[in-house]
Amino acid sequence: MSYTFVIKDDRNSYEIKEYIKNKIKLDIDDTNPDIVIAIGGDGTILKAVHQYSNATIFGIHTGHLGFFANYDSLEVDTLINDINNNEYKIDYLDSLEASFEDYNGNKYNEFALNEFTIICPPRTLMLDVYIDDEYFEKFRGTGFAISTPYGSTAYNKSLDGSVIDTSLQVMQLTEIAGLNSNAYRTLQSPLIISNERRVRLEDKSTETHVFITADHKSYKVDNFKSMFIDYKKNSVKMAYHEQISFIKRINRTFIISKE
Ligand code: NAP
Ligand code: MN
Repeated sequence: MSYTFVIKDDRNSYEIKEYIKNKIKLDIDDTNPDIVIAIGGDGTILKAVHQYSNATIFGIHTGHLGFFANYDSLEVDTLINDINNNEYKIDYLDSLEASFEDYNGNKYNEFALNEFTIICPPRTLMLDVYIDDEYFEKFRGTGFAISTPYGSTAYNKSLDGSVIDTSLQVMQLTEIAGLNSNAYRTLQSPLIISNERRVRLEDKSTETHVFITADHKSYKVDNFKSMFIDYKKNSVKMAYHEQISFIKRINRTFIISKE
């Protein structure tokens, strides 16, 4: 068994890392670790998940409490014992996977724990939207976010999407500044669909480039052609000592204020 760290660039996270490093009995491996200790915020955990997608992630939250972390900065000794005695449990989080391509034949595959977005900030993006190969709508506007229930509290929430119970297996499409007229008519409301469905976005404006984001990662795609989004079960391994309920996560992230 081996491990590594992904930490936020601040003093508190650094000090916790130094404290843990002296007490963990495993070997450090920055290339292919079994365990990753992510110290910081939700952004730090997302970074760890993308950098080491096969590893089991231990999230420690420093600063304000976040959504993904299962340990806080007062539970560092619990985490050390859990790792040294192999006593932790694992939550398997669902994600989304996407494949997209341009007209030059370049193909990409990515996954996202929070969401994918497809955006074209300087111009209006034009897309045909299909769900399970059925034509759904012609979209014109800045773009779309397609989120997991975990990501429903992130970008999706800023777009007035619904917060979704993470025990539900669904994906949510939210528009980013959709333009509505006689020519372009879209649903406008957030749309929550079953995990068994597949979303397909087809380019209708060949000159433009788009940005496709997968959580914090982004791709600039020139001559964008199409994108498929599917739901992927049990793709991220998140360690915990005690299960933190969905209600508690929402409450501590958005409702209770800091002392
Ligand atoms: P960032 O731009 O540095 O921070 C995004 C903020 O969202 C941070 O405060 C982060 O918490 C929080 N966050 C991330 N995932 C969350 C979740 N599942 N539930 C609740 N809050 C969450 O970027 P980042 O830290 O690398 O995170 C990438 C995420 O930023 C993307 O996946 C997207 O959801 C979000 N984003 C939001 C907007 C928007 O709301 N307008 C725009 C772009 C991106 P911590 O402070 O704990 O890290
Ligand atoms: Mn962040």
